[in-house]
Amino acid sequence: MSIEKFSLEKVLSVHRWTNTLFSFTLTRPAHFKFTAGQFARIGLMVGEELVVRAYSVVSSPFDETLEFFSIVVPDGAFTSNLQHLKVGDELYLEKNPYGYLTLARYQLPLPQDLWLLGTGTGLAPFLSMLQDFETWQNYQHIHLVYSVRTESELAYVERIQEIAESFGEGHAGFKFIPIITRDPQAALHDRLPVLIENGELEKFAGLEFNPASTHIMLCGNPQMVEDTKEALKARGLTMNRRGEGNIAVENYW
Ligand SMILES: Cc1cc2nc3c(=O)[nH]c(=O)nc-3n(C[C@H](O)[C@H](O)[C@H](O)COP(=O)(O)OP(=O)(O)OC[C@H]3O[C@@H](n4cnc5c(N)ncnc54)[C@H](O)[C@@H]3O)c2cc1C
Repeated sequence: MSIEKFSLEKVLSVHRWTNTLFSFTLTRPAHFKFTAGQFARIGLMVGEELVVRAYSVVSSPFDETLEFFSIVVPDGAFTSNLQHLKVGDELYLEKNPYGYLTLARYQLPLPQDLWLLGTGTGLAPFLSMLQDFETWQNYQHIHLVYSVRTESELAYVERIQEIAESFGEGHAGFKFIPIITRDPQAALHDRLPVLIENGELEKFAGLEFNPASTHIMLCGNPQMVEDTKEALKARGLTMNRRGEGNIAVENYW
């Protein structure tokens, strides 16, 4: 991999949510322009080798710094090293952003109801979209659905409320819907496809999926993405292709 494609950026902060989840911010070079929902390619040297992985940007496209939300995979080539990150360290950042999980991809149906469905760190691109005023202006309903295994994995909850206040300015159609799959006491605790098949998600949200008005994005665990996609198709929603259709997806592995 050619190192000229990267700039070296400084780590400005590290926040640890749990032993296996953390967030960090980097300096943002002036050339790095992205659309909310896109991902960066971040690299670090492991011995002599530059190891690079895709990371959705959490930050607003208008922020001066770049924030990311990371899992720690115990034997992962990248994250078993990245987990030791500290303020002042440097990471490689590929100069261009990538990806099509952006709201601009939707032409039809016109924006009305937005559902953002993420598992684990798959929350990241949605945080960026919610830090873009246009998202709040364009949609009547915005439902952020965030599925984790345990309550301790529910990162960013306070930030989500802050974002809704500062960017959404009290938008009446916003709902944050957490799902905790290993907590039978949680209001919603089944897997996303099940909650769609049995109608519980719509009932909880107070809104139905409608092929004529729904934009729905799925991000994170590929099994969740696949099964949820099928459950939504069974409800008459279609994959978004060349601008038309309801469902857009991004798999993390
Ligand atoms: C477009 C895109 C955007 C991504 N954005 C993010 C992001 O914002 N945050 C992030 O943490 N990861 C993200 N990933 C995954 C990331 O690129 C790496 O896979 C992850 O950092 C682990 O790297 P690794 O080398 O340690 O393990 P890898 O060898 O890459 O992965 C080993 C295994 O770990 C599991 N795994 C990988 N990533 C995750 C994850 N995020 N959550 C749970 N299990 C996982 C899978 O079982 C995978 O097979 C993204 C991937 C893609 C394709």
